[in-house]
Amino acid sequence: MENLCWKEECGVFGIFNHREAANITYLGLYALQHRGQESAGITTSDGKCLHSHRQMGLVADIFHENIIANLPGRMAIGHVRYSTSGSSNIKNCQPFAIEYSLGSLAIAHNGNLINDIPIRKRLVDSGALFQSNSDTEVIVHLIARSPLPTVEDRIIDALSQVKGAYCLVILTENKLIAARDPHGFRPLVLGRMGNSYVVASETCSFDLIEAEFIREIEPGEILIIDENGIRSIFPFDSVEKKQCIFEFIYFARPDSYIFGHNVYMVRKKLGELLCKYCPCDDAEMVIPVPDSGIPASIGYANCAKIPLELGLIRNHYVGRTFIEPKQSIRHFGVKIKLNITSEILKNKKVVVIDDSIVRGTTSRKIIKMIRNGGAKEIHFRISSPPIISPCYYGIDTPTHKELIASSHSVEEINKYVTSDTLGYLPIEALREAVSNPEEYCYACFTGKYPLPFPKEELEQLNLFRSLR
Ligand code: AMP
Repeated sequence: MENLCWKEECGVFGIFNHREAANITYLGLYALQHRGQESAGITTSDGKCLHSHRQMGLVADIFHENIIANLPGRMAIGHVRYSTSGSSNIKNCQPFAIEYSLGSLAIAHNGNLINDIPIRKRLVDSGALFQSNSDTEVIVHLIARSPLPTVEDRIIDALSQVKGAYCLVILTENKLIAARDPHGFRPLVLGRMGNSYVVASETCSFDLIEAEFIREIEPGEILIIDENGIRSIFPFDSVEKKQCIFEFIYFARPDSYIFGHNVYMVRKKLGELLCKYCPCDDAEMVIPVPDSGIPASIGYANCAKIPLELGLIRNHYVGRTFIEPKQSIRHFGVKIKLNITSEILKNKKVVVIDDSIVRGTTSRKIIKMIRNGGAKEIHFRISSPPIISPCYYGIDTPTHKELIASSHSVEEINKYVTSDTLGYLPIEALREAVSNPEEYCYACFTGKYPLPFPKEELEQLNLFRSLR
């Protein structure tokens, strides 16, 4: 079977009625860069037709003035994408823009569908020609093939057939449409800039463009913005909210407000809870693993009443590729990003805090660096529970085989990463950090998936992940 491309960890943005729509979308995507660094794209509408630019690379490297000048119109959508697929290429960059019987349409998607393979097969068998190997293109085909008379009806028709995680921004010649799946796995927010409406994956992009945050787009909501204003429809049966708790732990930017919370405040609270559940007697200081461990470390240090010190310093200018010497320097991969402050660490009993352990390989290198820096005791604390199962709803996590906690006990992981002690935040504590804990998906920590997926789909995803 063709090796499909799994589009994981993306950011979306859309704007309606702004004379600099492309430029604002560029800024919106710039603020969402953490959600995907592999490719970016913008599609605008000048009221008659759509204009697109999609390219591999970072937002600021792609959208130069001359490119933005070629994206005219008062409406735009944009996308940043991250996928570690070997087949990642320009064909899979979004937004996807097409011509169909009702005119032009472009779409950008954050999340992962879980039943796209059987739908794709059915479509291919009936003659559909796919341009990419992304799950998003299935939605495009379903919209194009729907017999219904309006684009709104066709979107409802298409979305009623797909299952999984999606936050979508869709652009036609004269409408901006946003949709969030009924479980609300991924975040999507609505804002206003004067007479313009904006939608984005996270509020951090509104802050940059000085847009006012109005509200979150609800799970199951389809929002239509056109010359008549803004209206919402909820065409699907309502189901339990299952928002991704990992957005709080690692993925979203700490300055964003999503799922009813400021991300930084949740992370800090996770640190306080970590201190309560996994204390470390006589520790002299807290050392965050930058940047992901910083907010939790502040919470832990406050609660433990010990200082927080920057025993690890991050180089913020690390590019994606560098030439590594073959043998002469050990652990080069981590050293290029992080260095130790040995003056801080020497002969100290330290608590090192990170947000999560995935494979354990980076953590092991970090702990060894801190040990080489002279720390006397290293107590490793993680502000999330052990990750035991892969995410199939849009976060890039490896297969069971590579997830260290899927097959190793906490004590075995402690041995592997070479810390003196290791403590994870218990799941009950994670649930304490949010106001409506039943409204979240914890599948990566529990293996209990709120949406069951077809076996074939699961095999394909695991194959893709194991091949990269
Ligand atoms: P590892 O050594 O493989 O356990 O990596 C741990 C680090 O990966 C932690 O610092 C996390 O912040 C980071 N991390 C967690 N989830 C992801 C993800 N989905 N993509 C990239 N890095 C991640």
